[in-house]
Amino acid sequence: MIHSNDLICKELVELVTEYLENSLPLGEKAQFEAHLAVCPGCQTYLEQMRQTLHAVGHLTEEPLDPTTRDALLALFRNWQNSV
Ligand SMILES: [Zn+2]
Repeated sequence: MIHSNDLICKELVELVTEYLENSLPLGEKAQFEAHLAVCPGCQTYLEQMRQTLHAVGHLTEEPLDPTTRDALLALFRNWQNSV
């Protein structure tokens, strides 16, 4: 396992879509939420992702259209660059 104890922001970014889809294993979900509780930046990020995915209207039932996918990728990149 790569995880030592707590999630770091970069790991949270990688898990956020699974978290929003409720597809994280319980242990990882607990780590995710533990990190969220102490990291305002990730709370903001999660909220942005939630709103973005909500705006799209679906999560993974259908492939993302290219515009949406690019917007999500840009979000990821901007966010990671700011860490
Ligand atoms: Zn964080």
